[in-house]
Amino acid sequence: MKYFRILLLMTIASYAISCGQQGNQKKNDDGNGFKYLTEQFADARILRYQVPGFDSLSLKQKRLIYYLSQAALCGRDVIYDQNYRYNLLIRKTLEVIYENYRGNRNSDDFRSFEVYLKRVWFSNGIHHHYSTDKFVPEFSKEYFSSLLKEVDPASLPLAKGQDVNGFISELTPLIFDAQVASKRVSLDPEKDLILSSASNFYEGVNQHEAEQYYESLKDADRKAGKDTLISYGLNSKLQKENGKIAEHFYRVGGLYSGAIEKIVYWLEKAVPETETPEQKEGLLLLIDYYKTGSLYTWDRYNVAWVKDLNSLVDYVNGFIEVYGDPMAMKGSWESIVNFKDVVATRRTQILSENAQYFEDHSPVDPSFRKKEVRGVTAKVITAAQLGGECHPTTPIGINLPNANWIRKTYGSKSVTIDNITYAYDQASQGNGFLEEFAFSKEEIDRARKFGYLAGNLTTDLHECLGHGSGQLLPGVTAEALKNYHSTIEEARADLFALYYIKDPEMVNLGLIADYETAKAEYDNFMRNGLMTQLVRIQPGKTIEEAHMRDRALIANWVFEKSKGKNIVEKVTREGKTYVHIIDYDKLRWQFGELLKIIQKITSEGNYREARELVEKYAVGVDPVLHKEVLERYKKLNIAPYSGFINPEYTLVVKDDTISDVQIIYPEDFAGQMLRYSKNYSYLPLR
Ligand SMILES: [Zn+2]
Repeated sequence: MKYFRILLLMTIASYAISCGQQGNQKKNDDGNGFKYLTEQFADARILRYQVPGFDSLSLKQKRLIYYLSQAALCGRDVIYDQNYRYNLLIRKTLEVIYENYRGNRNSDDFRSFEVYLKRVWFSNGIHHHYSTDKFVPEFSKEYFSSLLKEVDPASLPLAKGQDVNGFISELTPLIFDAQVASKRVSLDPEKDLILSSASNFYEGVNQHEAEQYYESLKDADRKAGKDTLISYGLNSKLQKENGKIAEHFYRVGGLYSGAIEKIVYWLEKAVPETETPEQKEGLLLLIDYYKTGSLYTWDRYNVAWVKDLNSLVDYVNGFIEVYGDPMAMKGSWESIVNFKDVVATRRTQILSENAQYFEDHSPVDPSFRKKEVRGVTAKVITAAQLGGECHPTTPIGINLPNANWIRKTYGSKSVTIDNITYAYDQASQGNGFLEEFAFSKEEIDRARKFGYLAGNLTTDLHECLGHGSGQLLPGVTAEALKNYHSTIEEARADLFALYYIKDPEMVNLGLIADYETAKAEYDNFMRNGLMTQLVRIQPGKTIEEAHMRDRALIANWVFEKSKGKNIVEKVTREGKTYVHIIDYDKLRWQFGELLKIIQKITSEGNYREARELVEKYAVGVDPVLHKEVLERYKKLNIAPYSGFINPEYTLVVKDDTISDVQIIYPEDFAGQMLRYSKNYSYLPLR
C-alpha cells in the first residue's frame, strides 16, 4: 500500500460548490479582497491560498516553518529531473528566452511560447502532470530557433563545444516530437513498463532486469538475516554501466547531492526550533538519512515522525510517493510544511477514535479485517508551503508513511488540508459547472448546502480510515498488483468512505446531521465518475491516472450492476445526459458489495482479477458521451486543473536576532517560478 494521497480530488466537482449560506455570485474573492484565481492558461488555472492562523503562531513556530519551507523549496529541481532527464535543460533554456528576448513579446507566437513555459512550470516538466502525456508547443520549430538565435549564446546552457545550431538540433526533437519520450509513466501491461516510460528512475535497464535486481537484493538480505521490510529502491536510480546494473542513491555525495545538501542545511537550522523531543529525533534521523541514503534510517525516521503527535507544526519531506514510477518503487521528492487547525481537527479525531468500530462493521470478509486498528491519527491542517511533487499542483489529503509494516505496527498520520480545499471552493463559486451537469434543482441545492462538508468528510474517511483498513493475507505483498495496485488501492479507500458516509454511526457521532450530506456526496461521486471527470481526458484517449480510474471503476461497476433495479440511471434531456440516483440506500449497498470484492483482491494479491476489473470498468471511455461532456464543459470556460502560488516568507531581523517572520501572498505565477529557479537551482542541467 503506497498510494495515500488524493490528487485534486474532484476539484471540478465538489469544489465547484459554494458552501453553507454563501451565495454563488462571488467569484474569485473571499469578500476581503483576497484574489483566489489569478490566471488561466491551456487546461490550467492558477490559484492562491491563504495561511490563516500564521500570525498567531509563536516566533519559534514561525521560525520552524520558515526553515522547513526553505528546505521544501530546495528540492524543486529534483522533481524536474526525476520526471524526465532533460527537464532542467529545457526549463533553463525557456527561462533564458523568457527573460532575455527583446523582440515582439505581444505576438501570437510569443504568447504561445509563454503558455508552453507556464505549462512546463505547472507540470514540473514537459509531460502533463496528470495524464503524464508529453505536451508539445503551439508555436513552430522555426519560431523556437529564431528565439534562440536572438538571445546571447553565452546565456544558453550549451554543451561543451556546442554552437547554437547544434543546441537547436539537440533540443528541437525533445520539445517538439511527440513520439520522443511520449509518456512519463506508461502503465500499458502489454509493453515493458520501464522502457515505455520517460521518467528518469532507470537508465539502460528494462523491467525484467529491474525486477530481478530487486528480487536478488531482497534474497541476499534475507539470507544474511537482514530486515527485508525496507522500501527497496525508494531513493535511487538504477543504471546499467558496462553491462552491469548500478544503484545510485539520492544522498549527500550521491545523486542530487547539490539539492540534498541544501535541504540538509535548512533542516539543521530547523532542529533547535522543534516543538517536541519526538519531532527533534525525527528531524535528526531525516538529516542522517539524507546524508547516508540508508533506507533503514528512513524507516526509523518514519517511526519517529508518526509518533510525533503533539507538535503543532509538522512537515512532509523526502522521496515518498511512487506514482511517478510505473514499477511503483521509486519515490518522487516532495514536501509540505503545515500546522494543525485545532478546531477543525476535532472532526477527524472523532473518526480515528472510532476506527475500530468502522473496521469491525465493514462489509468485507471478516478474515480481511484488521483485528486491531492501530493509531490512525487524523488531523486537519493548514498548509504553509508546498514543494517538489506537491507544487504547483497539490494533494488535498495525505496519509503517511507508506511502508506497510510501519502502518501496521505504529499507525499512520492522516491529514486533510483545509486551506487548500477552501481555496478551491472559493475559486470555483458561480462558475456554472454544477448548474450545467446536475440532474435537478434539488441536487444543486443539496450540493450548495452540504457539498463542502461532504467533500471534506469523504477525504477524511478515505485518508484516515479507508487506506488504513483491511489486512493482507500472510505472504501477500503490496507489489502483487503491480500496475493495478494504485487504482485498486484508491478504489478501496474511496469505497470505504462512500459506504460509511451514509452510515447511521456518522449521525450518532454528530459528524453529520442527517443523510443529506451523504446524498450530496453520492450525487457528486456518480456524476463525476460516470461523466464529468471525462473533461480531463483528451478526445480519443483512455483513462490513465489512478484516482480517475478508481472513480470510473466504482461508478461504472455500480451502474452496470444496478441495471433494471431502479438504483441509478442516465437520463437524456434536450440532448444532454444527466446522472440520476433513484435509490440512495441501494446504492450504498452496491458500494459495500464492490468493497468486498476489492478488499478480497487486495488481501489475496490477485493480479489477474485486479486486471480484469480495472481493464473492464476503469479504462475505456464512451466516445459519444465524452464528446458531449467536452462540448458542454467548453462553454463554461473553466480550466480543469488547478495549481497554486505559494505564499512567501521573509525573516525580520533586528539587532542580529530574528524578531518576526513575515508572510506575503504574491500574485504572479511566472514571477514566483523565476524567483524559485534563480534562488533554488542546485543541480547540473546535463
Ligand atoms: Zn488515497
